[in-house]
Amino acid sequence: MPDLPLVRLTGKGRRWRLTGHPWVFRDDLAQVPPALAAGDLAAVLSPQGDFLGQAFFSVLSRIALRFVTFGDEPVDAAFWGARLDRALAYRELVAPGVEARRLIFGEADGFPGLVVDAYGAHLAVQTLHPGPERLLPELLELLAARLAPASITLRHDAEVRLLEGLTLSVETVRGVLPERVEVREGACRLLVDVQGGQKTGLFLDQRENRLAAAPWGRGEVLDAFAYQGGFGLHLAPGAERVTLVDASETALTAARQNAALNNLNHLEFVKDNAFAFLKRAVAAGRRFDVVVLDPPAFAKSRRDRPGALKGYLEINRRAFQLLRPGGVLITCSCSYNLGEPEFLEIVRQAAVAAGRTARLVERRGAARDHPALLSLPESAYLKCCFLMVD
Ligand code: SAH
Repeated sequence: MPDLPLVRLTGKGRRWRLTGHPWVFRDDLAQVPPALAAGDLAAVLSPQGDFLGQAFFSVLSRIALRFVTFGDEPVDAAFWGARLDRALAYRELVAPGVEARRLIFGEADGFPGLVVDAYGAHLAVQTLHPGPERLLPELLELLAARLAPASITLRHDAEVRLLEGLTLSVETVRGVLPERVEVREGACRLLVDVQGGQKTGLFLDQRENRLAAAPWGRGEVLDAFAYQGGFGLHLAPGAERVTLVDASETALTAARQNAALNNLNHLEFVKDNAFAFLKRAVAAGRRFDVVVLDPPAFAKSRRDRPGALKGYLEINRRAFQLLRPGGVLITCSCSYNLGEPEFLEIVRQAAVAAGRTARLVERRGAARDHPALLSLPESAYLKCCFLMVD
């Protein structure tokens, strides 16, 4: 057994661990050494003293342990280096040559609480847990050695860090980051603000869905919750007109720059609450051939679910009302508290409420550089469904 502080689980905690889930809740801890600090690596034991793995400890969060390994190998620089190599080799398989892609997706890559995104030669790193936070100097060395990045920016502004007692900041700690990094995504060129954009700059989880959307572009397209134009830009070449709606002026300014960069001049940019826009568009009798709905997570926790369900129902119902016969709805949800079957049930209800018959063309999830860990259902959060209406 590794020479580490010992944390003992309850019987329930042990059974939970045997499901393969990489987290343990605080209620499932039977015994913790008093000196154990946030970010410490601990050896985890069953009530009987059997070794169950090695995990990062958290003092504040409800998630008390995040397993790093179920094995007893030394967790050292070589261990992390091998994990990084595996993560990079996987990206070469599923996203070769992709300029903007996720290189490390937390638990799914064996790096609990760590995200690393690449925008061309520039890296954005986000630690969401004291474990990887403390390892940061070592991780940055590894990243620099393997990838020789032009810059590394710490996007330590994700609010979940506060739950772990970590502070918020954004800083380029190595190299020089230009104000905007230009990346190619399919046929589009996109400008990325690695320090100030939402997430680490782009919603990379939707990359393959944006590419899959491209061939559907035709007639009038509505991209609600458009951010910097992701879906709309990909749909634009085949369309007569694209309307992008977002509540954020900053996002729309970036969308305008992206449109110009791609020589697209049939896009219209509307700063509005998408709920209000959809409602008015229905009242005004507007019609579209393609509608994209990619809202932020409405159900951030179980508590939010009732309101979230109503929100999804409303925007999907209005989208169905707006579609011309033969029109296509691309509807997404990134709430992990809402499973795909429930999401499809809401979309079905929305179609019925709008008096439309809808056909499910394609069900999609996050891009393959965002693999979901089978035993961590929380990592399979993104749903993206393509439907066609009669
Ligand atoms: N489809 C985009 C990502 C969308 S992220 C892409 O592929 O790049 C969700 C966007 O919804 C964010 O840009 C956020 O600013 C916007 N947003 C959040 N609430 C909104 C609301 N009520 N009305 C309009 N936009 C909203």
